[in-house]
Amino acid sequence: MANNYQVPFGSHQQPESLVIHCSDGRFQAHFRRFVVEHLGVEEYALIAVPGGCHFLTLLDYLPKFSWVGWRWVKFLVDVAKPKKVILIGHDDCLWYKDFRFSLDRHDTREKTIHDLKGVKAGVESRFQLRAEAYFARLDGGQVVFEAVG
Ligand SMILES: [Zn+2]
Repeated sequence: MANNYQVPFGSHQQPESLVIHCSDGRFQAHFRRFVVEHLGVEEYALIAVPGGCHFLTLLDYLPKFSWVGWRWVKFLVDVAKPKKVILIGHDDCLWYKDFRFSLDRHDTREKTIHDLKGVKAGVESRFQLRAEAYFARLDGGQVVFEAVG
């Protein structure tokens, strides 16, 4: 059938990491390249939602968001059994720039980094898992990934 697209499934081991990042289409290829080529993680479980791990910080403001978010993380920790969790935030995040989620829209970089640190600590304490956080900074036409926390 000409309309079907087929690729071999191959054999897979348990993914070694769970990655949580934003769903912003401008950054997907960069996130994947960073995780695969720089961090050396070939296969990973993924949660990609607007704002990345921000949904895990909304305990007071949007508790149902937060509850669902932590349930997703727990589910993937239980079934995928990752050895570590990788959190990636990024510059110019449209979710963070939305007025509903940021009191000072000019300071979204600082807010994103603050949230990455908080979620990193939350993941480590809830699941006794190692977590790494990175911020993807835009710099002169380049995306520069920096470790956070
Ligand atoms: Zn974003």
